[in-house]
Amino acid sequence: MVEFGTLNFGSLDTSSQKKELDLNNPSEHLKLVIVGSGPAGYTAGIYAARANLNPVLYTGMEMGGQLTTTTIVENYPGYPDGVEGPVMMEEFKRQAEKFGTDVRFGEVTRVDFGRRPFILVIDEEKVISADAVIIATGASAKYLGLESEQRLRGAGVSACATCDGFFYKDKVVAVVGGGDTACEEALYLAGLAKKVYMLVRKPYMRASKIMQRRVLDHPKIEVLFETETLDILGDKKVEGIKVVYRRGKPDEKVYEIPIDGFFLAIGHKPNSDVFKPWIETDENGFIKTKCKSTKTNVEGVFAAGDVQDPFYRQAVTAAASGAMAAKEAELYLQELEEKEREEKQLEQI
Ligand code: NDP
Repeated sequence: MVEFGTLNFGSLDTSSQKKELDLNNPSEHLKLVIVGSGPAGYTAGIYAARANLNPVLYTGMEMGGQLTTTTIVENYPGYPDGVEGPVMMEEFKRQAEKFGTDVRFGEVTRVDFGRRPFILVIDEEKVISADAVIIATGASAKYLGLESEQRLRGAGVSACATCDGFFYKDKVVAVVGGGDTACEEALYLAGLAKKVYMLVRKPYMRASKIMQRRVLDHPKIEVLFETETLDILGDKKVEGIKVVYRRGKPDEKVYEIPIDGFFLAIGHKPNSDVFKPWIETDENGFIKTKCKSTKTNVEGVFAAGDVQDPFYRQAVTAAASGAMAAKEAELYLQELEEKEREEKQLEQI
């Protein structure tokens, strides 16, 4: 038996506020816990509840996930007239609850996947155990950290060209970043906008050569190397940016560019820290899943949505992987029950 007091739990850095919790005595045992309330988590809830798995879904602090920070979603099938991101997530939640998913507001702050049943700590307050876990904690787009960037979020500042690019038909936009995502976003936007500036802070791009070539060859994209954003201009909506060329060098130049939209593409941080000591991730923190499945390296723990997807990052692909995770959890729990039944029968002999 593992002694919890001596274990190094995977956790957010909550050491300063960690309470003395009796981790050996969970106050509740659950069959299936879903962690996260974006499209992946709620879809897993819909499928798991319909399969009578009595799922409990912990929402995390940002209930509804990244979609609650977007305005209108026009690329989710079934909504030909578009739908507000927060409204859509409310409908996902309602659908999950309708079939019996127990949606609880709370954050998983520590886990131990080193023993069965698994142990999860909620809000550093409550200890629960679970037979299976679906991690659907998503990813968070990185921002530059400017005050104006937060103020103008949804008013010209976006971290998703596929979501919001459509609103910039024949307008002028800027994309920050020099990676593959930035190139993809710039190319996507160039199909809609009149002009795309790509702001790359170094004298070179990090993106793959083929993506760089596509960007550099595109007549509508102008790449501004060694250029950093100092401020986003505009009161109610984005009207321009103030940038610095070759900051700190003798030929440093500060100037303004009029634009209508400002797109961040400086990477995403998957929300996987809390699970890391148990669950394998890639070098960027995305949870590794086994080929064509949502299975992680720990049997009984599944990962769905953006926390395991550095590439597609769409609501529809997240929802699809949530459905996969629920199906796989169902199968796992069936096998677990059969195993337990067999063990009991053997004990009685
Ligand atoms: P990356 O981490 O690869 O690139 C981030 C970019 O943003 C870098 O150019 C970085 O600059 C820049 N950046 C970071 N912070 C700042 C800042 N504060 N100000 C200005 N610029 C900043 O992230 P991506 O999302 O592009 O890619 C993540 C992974 O996914 C990569 O492995 C990528 O190859 C992969 N991917 C693959 C795709 C494909 O194959 N089709 C599509 C999209 C992503 P710097 O270089 O100076 O650090």
